[in-house]
Amino acid sequence: MPSKTTAKKAKKVARKRAPKATKYVYSFGKKTDGNAKMKNLLGGKGANLAEMASIGLPVPGGFTITTDVCVEYYKNNRKYPAALKGQIEKAIKICERESGKKFGDNKNPLLFSVRSGARESMPGMMDTILNLGLNDKTVEALKAKSGNGRFAYDCYRRFVQMYGDVVMGVQARTENEPDPFEHALHKLKEEVGVTVDSDLTEENNKEVIRRFQALIKERTGGAFPQDVHKQLDGAVGAVFNSWQNERAILYRQKYGIPAEWGTAVNVQLMVFGNLGDTSATGVAFTRDPANGENVFYGEYLINAQGEDVVAGVRTPFPIAQLADDMPKSHKELEVVRKKLERHFGDVQDFEFTIEDGKLYMLQTRNGKRTGLAAVRIAVEMTKQKLMTQKTAVTKIPADQISSLLVPIFDAKAIKKAKLMAVGLPAGPGAASGKIVFNASDAEAEVEKGNAVVLCREETSPEDLRGMIASDGILTSRGGVSSHAALVARQMGKVCICGASDIDINYASGTITAGKTVLKEGDHISIDGTTGEIFAGAVATAPSEVSQVLAGKMKAEKSYTYQLFAQVMKWADKHRKLGVRTNADSPTQSKAAVALGAEGIGLCRTEHMFFEGDRITYMREMILAPDEAARKKALKKLLPFQRKDFNGLFKAMEGRPVTVRLLDPPLHEFLPHDDEARRSLATHLGVKPEVISARVHALHEENPMLGHRGCRLGISYPEITEMQARAIFEAAAQVLKLKKKIKVKPEIMIPLVGFQDELENQVAIVHRVAKEVQKAKGVKIDYLVGTMIEVPRAAVTSAEIAKSAQFFSFGTNDLTQTTLGMSRDDAGSFLGKYKDLDILPQNPFATIDQSGVGELVKLGVNGGKSTNPNIKLGICGEHGGDPESVKFCHNAGLTYVSCSPNRVPVARLAAAQAAIEAGA
Ligand code: PEP
Ligand code: MG
Repeated sequence: MPSKTTAKKAKKVARKRAPKATKYVYSFGKKTDGNAKMKNLLGGKGANLAEMASIGLPVPGGFTITTDVCVEYYKNNRKYPAALKGQIEKAIKICERESGKKFGDNKNPLLFSVRSGARESMPGMMDTILNLGLNDKTVEALKAKSGNGRFAYDCYRRFVQMYGDVVMGVQARTENEPDPFEHALHKLKEEVGVTVDSDLTEENNKEVIRRFQALIKERTGGAFPQDVHKQLDGAVGAVFNSWQNERAILYRQKYGIPAEWGTAVNVQLMVFGNLGDTSATGVAFTRDPANGENVFYGEYLINAQGEDVVAGVRTPFPIAQLADDMPKSHKELEVVRKKLERHFGDVQDFEFTIEDGKLYMLQTRNGKRTGLAAVRIAVEMTKQKLMTQKTAVTKIPADQISSLLVPIFDAKAIKKAKLMAVGLPAGPGAASGKIVFNASDAEAEVEKGNAVVLCREETSPEDLRGMIASDGILTSRGGVSSHAALVARQMGKVCICGASDIDINYASGTITAGKTVLKEGDHISIDGTTGEIFAGAVATAPSEVSQVLAGKMKAEKSYTYQLFAQVMKWADKHRKLGVRTNADSPTQSKAAVALGAEGIGLCRTEHMFFEGDRITYMREMILAPDEAARKKALKKLLPFQRKDFNGLFKAMEGRPVTVRLLDPPLHEFLPHDDEARRSLATHLGVKPEVISARVHALHEENPMLGHRGCRLGISYPEITEMQARAIFEAAAQVLKLKKKIKVKPEIMIPLVGFQDELENQVAIVHRVAKEVQKAKGVKIDYLVGTMIEVPRAAVTSAEIAKSAQFFSFGTNDLTQTTLGMSRDDAGSFLGKYKDLDILPQNPFATIDQSGVGELVKLGVNGGKSTNPNIKLGICGEHGGDPESVKFCHNAGLTYVSCSPNRVPVARLAAAQAAIEAGA
């Protein structure tokens, strides 16, 4: 017989060895297992409910089923892990203990809400069920307990409707069919002469429930379940299934949320905002999410449930009015507001319910905000010491800084415009476009090249496609936290909601405000900053920031500009990457410098020849049959080039200017139609057939892989020579100005794949430089480098760097050549690739890190290995994409170069990359 100690030891070992069952269910309330840091596992909502419960805020108890369950559910053919059932039962027991109620009890029933909660909030995209646990018997118990039959049957009616819709799939069958439950409810309201749901009597609600249950039976053949555990099973399953519904998938694609994350499910004790006039429910932001102002902002409805506020069925009251309606609760909410901001260090968007005078917190999350609000909140919260400067910089989505540069209505045009009505300003900026009433029409019109404003009574997630396509969104119902407002804000769309003075009639295809009637296809203009709606098209004008930058407005007059300038200053302090611009003209360059560009990273010289007569000389040069003819054409081009470079150098005032030598895929410049060929023939004094024959001779099957880039300069060294001469002569001119301006040309050879190609071209550039410097008696500070835009260049970068003073990654071509996907034609299949998650992001917009990105890294390392001082930049479109900018920072590049309007985005993204990498 083993001794006592041995037995104990054995037990201990056994305990140690027994695999710990995975915890799938986390409680919150009096007993709280999780916290705010556990977002990946508990979802944003679950983690923050736990956090709120732990800091003593009044959170009704409940439990969170983890995102792991969702992941396993999908992995195992929509089957739950075996341990889940028992863990849910245990969690229900805890709720029962804490509340003193019992799930499914006929005397004191416990009711739950069941909500989704992904790692990142996806407002309105997944399903929610309230009042779960009611059935024909428990509803009577709820009636007896509350002493309020109307209330009890109101809850039951809502539950049957939600459950029928979400779990049992009883929904509108076409876009134009009304929601069947809403339709039945509306019909009964008409029959009994009631307009507001809360005026329905107990008997009315019983009748609606009867009709709802009959509807469910008729549509599904099954009965609405009376067993509360079955109800819970169904609801949890519906939430997990909604992770893969069409709108959630679309939303994830738009915001780059991986499908593998899954959603959590939050099951929480119901509290009732619809218990009578001492109850209410609402949503609030700790600051104004539209403009960022530090005011308590939100709305509520008395005697209602949460969904009523968000769905926009009744137009809610502004939160300030709660101070009169329920002063005690308003005061409590003010305390909560401060506590939330202090604790979470950011603006919070929260839901609350007041049940018979007692305040409950149902959710909190970082508030979605417009670009303008993001900037203002970051700046002001930093000044209030609620945020650090570094946090402030990372809190502004880099892309959104560009919304401060969005157009506003032209001041003169707006004075003449006809004001139709005013709604709630929900997404700032000015939009003007054709009126459309549904998502498919919006998409169709945009496809035709028209701007549209999507006009809906209220929007639902089904309208998402239309909202993405539209320039502006206008709704006649719903408040600032309605779906339209939330989604539009996040998309940075111009939006007005709750414009109750206008009548939107889908059937007649009209919008009416007083005597003004607009029809589908007419123009409408909306100002999402003021809420004003105008009939007709109104011209737009640049934003305040742009006006200050263009010297048309004083900086002191524009708080928006001051906020922008502050954030940019902080960004510049933290970023390590330089930010340049891709510009081909002095106007573009100046605009970019005003936005913070530190140089030109790419001047595409062939673009200088698109205008006026120049294209003719360019064509003359390309089509030249021999060297003599080419030299003649080049002679004509030289003065243009010199003048253009002179302009650029002056505009850039000593900042580096990277001039790329000719890289025209020939087809872009050849005269394609008869008219263009005839006029070129006249200009050259030859027969049109000569031109046609030459065009034919130059035809290439794959012009992008053809006679372009350095291949042109190698075939025709006189082209390189002319361009080098134009650059150096312009530099000499500028250096010799009375008011001398520094110049720093960086000459860039395109499409190099072999060191010898580069050597060949570099030799010409140096020779011409020497000649010009000698002839003009100046010393020019210049560099010669190359683009890395074909895989061979990246692979042999160590060799190539021996002949280059800098590399600039041309990731447009590098993507094209690495992926073997035409940058011009890939659009025809990329949509499918995105849908199938093969390429969730367009690789021509956001760098394909594991493919093209690896080549960039190879290029960086190779280049540095033989030329430690090599400058490294990027000038493909990716240089203005936040995610790609972060990649560039981490890859060790010196600078990014992007289009002028993206410069602020790149500056901010670069700072965020540096902060994140240092954190
Ligand atoms: C590139 O290929 O990334 C590049 C910048 O050059 P272009 O777009 O002119 O081909
Ligand atoms: Mg290129």
